[in-house]
Formats: sequence, structure tokens, C-alpha cells
Amino acid sequence: MKINLISDTVTKPSIDMLNAMMSAEVGDDVFKEDPTVNALEEKVAKLFGMEAALFFPSGTMANQTGIKLHTQPGEQLICHEYAHIFNYEGGGVSFNSGVSCKLLKGSRGMMTAEQVEQAINPPDFYHSPLTSLVCVENTTNKGGGACWDMEELKKIKKVCGDHNLSYHMDGARLWNAMVVKKNLPKEYGELFDTISVCFSKGLGCPVGSALVGSKDSIHKALRIRKVFGGGMRQAGFLAAAAIYALDNNVNRLQEDHIRAKELGECLDSLSYIQKVEPIETNILIFEIDESKMTQSHFTQTLKEKDIHIIGMGQGKLRMVTHYDYTQEMHEIVLNTLKKL
Ligand SMILES: *Cc1c(COP(=O)(O)O)cnc(C)c1O
Repeated sequence: MKINLISDTVTKPSIDMLNAMMSAEVGDDVFKEDPTVNALEEKVAKLFGMEAALFFPSGTMANQTGIKLHTQPGEQLICHEYAHIFNYEGGGVSFNSGVSCKLLKGSRGMMTAEQVEQAINPPDFYHSPLTSLVCVENTTNKGGGACWDMEELKKIKKVCGDHNLSYHMDGARLWNAMVVKKNLPKEYGELFDTISVCFSKGLGCPVGSALVGSKDSIHKALRIRKVFGGGMRQAGFLAAAAIYALDNNVNRLQEDHIRAKELGECLDSLSYIQKVEPIETNILIFEIDESKMTQSHFTQTLKEKDIHIIGMGQGKLRMVTHYDYTQEMHEIVLNTLKKL
């Protein structure tokens, strides 16, 4: 049995999800005539208490569209040095928007409002790029699935308001954060100009993300998505999966979080593990004590048992729990780790 802990993107649609997809009513979404895509966009907008939403083929495109919406070439955005938009979107911030990133440090992929305020270039000092956007990521990916504290997000919102900056959230795994923090999408909708969310991770969809924002932003986003090549035709088959996932797969994220914690506790008890980072959601990052076991021996031995995990560089390893990681698999992994 292949056990894939590389990412929560490896899931395949369940039979029930496939049935929902197969029976979707579809049309040409480039003409905005796909009823299922329209229904999904309405549903997501309403969920966040925002005016409008737009369906995207990837979270990367949703983020890149958000960044393009809020910036002009030559300007600068502020984000954490771990940010997905900076590290894992192929340099799209500069390629697509001609924008640079001011990178901030901070524990587990998060920064403070004070840091953000200090990173703003004085708007009248024309020698430096004009700061126009702040991006935060929730949960943090490279930060190990950490969830932002609502109070800090509000403080950053205040800084954005005081300095006339737009505020975007990369909420690829915001569903996970909401399950842990027990807050509502609307609480985030009130703070941000735009939020991107993924359906293709913990929620188990094969494809799909959305960007939520004001009517005006989403109207502009439609053109940007077209320019990026993201206009899709009978996309309702995909949107149906997302609707199914929102109705059925959000609360079960708790199971992924519990299994991640159990994996973390197990690793923590093993002599060859040096450090396990705190686990809040479905991502766990840990380090091997290389004087006891090499990283490659560890990953290779797991691989021989058909358990797949990924290295993150700098001696860090990662496991991500998800919809297709069952209790049966979980027990196999726990037993294997203990016997290694
Ligand atoms: C996965 C992810 C994205 C989007 O990735 P796609 O593969 O393009 O869907 C964006 N931000 C974060 C933090 C992610 O983990």
C-alpha cells in the first residue's frame, strides 16, 4: 500500500465527489455561462461575507492575480521570507506584476504588525519602490502549518489602513486554520481586500482554487485571469467537486490534525529525532539527529516500505496528513517509525 505523506495535494476524488462531478450542469465559463461555477463563486463569496469570488485552476494563479490587482510595476509588497508567493510561485511576483518583495523574518512564517510598519518605504522618498501591498499566509506552509492569531491580523490591517496598503491573504489552507481556531470565514472576509483559498489540498478536490474580494476587484480579476490563460470552459465539473468539498470535507480536517499530532508525538519519542516543530494543523516539520541516523537513510528506509515523505532543505523533513491518509495507513506509519 502506497502511503504518501509528501503533500495534501496528492488526494484523489472520492466516489461521492466523482458522482457530484459527473452530474454537474455545465456551460462555457469564459462566457460566465457555467451554472455550477457561478454557484460555487456565489457560495464562496457568501461564505466569506464578501461581494464576489472567482474560480481558478490553481492557488498560484489566484495569488498572482491578487498581487496583480493590488500593485503596479516597480512597486513593492511586504511578506514573510517563507511566503509561498515568494518561494514557490516560480518568481511570478516579478514576472507577472513587475513587483519586488520586502521579506520579513519571524517565527513559523509569521511576522508582527510592528515589523510590517517598519518595512514600509516612505511614500514620498521616490528613490525606493512604493510599498503597496501586504501578503500573509494562513496556514503557513514552510512555517509548518501554523495559524495566525486574529488579533495580529487585525493589527496588520490597521497598519495597511494607516498607510494606504492593500491586504491579501494566501489562504491555501485557511480551512485548516478555521477548523483549529474555530472562527468563521466572515471574520477573515472583514479584514482582507482579497483572499485566495484552495480546494485541491485538504478538501480533496482534484483541481481548483478561488479568489474572493469586492465586486470591483473580482471584475478586474476576470481580465487578469484571462491574460494569465486561466479562463476555462466547462469548468463546472471541477466546481462541482469544490461545492461537494465545502459541504462535506471541511470539518473532517480535524482528523488530519489529530493524526499529524500523533505522528509528531511518536517522532518526539524517538532517539534519532532531534526536533519536532509545534503541530497545529496537518503539516509537521522535523529534524533527524544525523549523528544517529542520516536523513537519506531515514527517507530511503521509509521509501522501501512505500511510505513517502519530502525534505525541505536545511536538514528539515516534512510530512503532511490528508484525506487519503487513512487510519490503517496511520497505524502502519507509527509502527514503522517505532521500529526504525
Ligand atoms: C499550495 C499552496 C498554494 C497554491 O499552490 P497551487 O499548487 O498553485 O494550487 C499557495 N500558497 C500556499 C501557502 C500553498 O501551500
